[in-house]
Amino acid sequence: MNKKRLIIVNSKSFGKFTNAIQELEAFCEISRIDVPKDIDGKDLAQKLRGAHFVIATSNPKYTREFFEANEDVVSVLVHGIGVDNVDVKAATENGVVIVKVPGVAEREAVAELAVNLMLTALRHVVQASNKVREGKWLERAKYVGSELAGKVVGVIGLGNIGSRVAEILIKGFNAKVLAYDPYIPPERIKAIGAEPASFDDVLKNSDIITLHCPLTRETYHLLDETAFKKLKKGAILVNTARGGLVDTEALIKALENGILAAAALDVVEGEPIDESHPLLKYENVIITPHIGAYTLEALAGMDSSLTNAVKALLKGEIPENAINREVFNKKNLRLKKIL
Ligand code: NAD
Repeated sequence: MNKKRLIIVNSKSFGKFTNAIQELEAFCEISRIDVPKDIDGKDLAQKLRGAHFVIATSNPKYTREFFEANEDVVSVLVHGIGVDNVDVKAATENGVVIVKVPGVAEREAVAELAVNLMLTALRHVVQASNKVREGKWLERAKYVGSELAGKVVGVIGLGNIGSRVAEILIKGFNAKVLAYDPYIPPERIKAIGAEPASFDDVLKNSDIITLHCPLTRETYHLLDETAFKKLKKGAILVNTARGGLVDTEALIKALENGILAAAALDVVEGEPIDESHPLLKYENVIITPHIGAYTLEALAGMDSSLTNAVKALLKGEIPENAINREVFNKKNLRLKKIL
């Protein structure tokens, strides 16, 4: 069998902590490239000419224009759970298989980071640690925080990750969880130990709001100026889902007028951001560079799921985590051309 060409685009982690590359080298010629996060579909199509498999990350966007202008790529395999940067409908119409990693691979890692960010914000860990570096240990009384125990935490999106966050908060911290998820029946929310609530009730009654829903047309800027106005004064916002869920200008206003006591974000609209980003001037904003899934355990699960998916595709099989399985019934399935 001729080796197929696999290209890793913008992913800083695929194959870096596992033997995924060695495993795939038995079947594929592998290369890595970085492209601008906002590259347009036609330019991306040109850059990926000749590649059969693409290991993708949360940027750039794989648009309709890309799928129409590039005829070589047979599958885009996303090294993550969120596929909001891929036009899956256009991929299906063009016979391209889209694969993502199974939710379980990232569940624990992202849930633990979300809880970590809550505690970091509640206890001013970053600011206090910075004071020690500045030789100002004796200023420690500035860093009196609050406990997670007994707090009301609003979980928006109670799926794979949100449900684990709720479980940790309820069982581990005796926190009260209000959950808003219009697609999960109230009985299932109650079975987790959380209380089903409307979006407005979550906003009004939570000490901490944590986001765990996907970015879709419906959830884009879910937290806008109107939503921030409904928050309890002094609330904390944690976002480990997607930057686009929060309107950045409205977030800055909420920090300026004291509605938010702190924001702890693993994802930011327009990421990756640089040091000039306006959110970075606030001491009560903690930003991590989209490291939610960056644990050795999660990366091992993610790498092996995509490696297995490439092997399955090369056998003409539907990978377990293909998200547009219907493409296998289409006459224009591109995979057929390379098998
Ligand atoms: P999931 O699909 O299992 O859960 C998402 C939940 O959100 C579902 O229960 C769904 O019903 C709910 N939902 C959908 N629309 C909603 C709305 N309008 N309001 C409230 N809830 C809504 O996904 P998951 O595995 O839990 O992942 C959640 C998100 O986390 C992903 O979409 C991804 O964007 C993000 N994520 C981030 C990282 C990171 O590194 N920071 C890693 C993995 C996933």
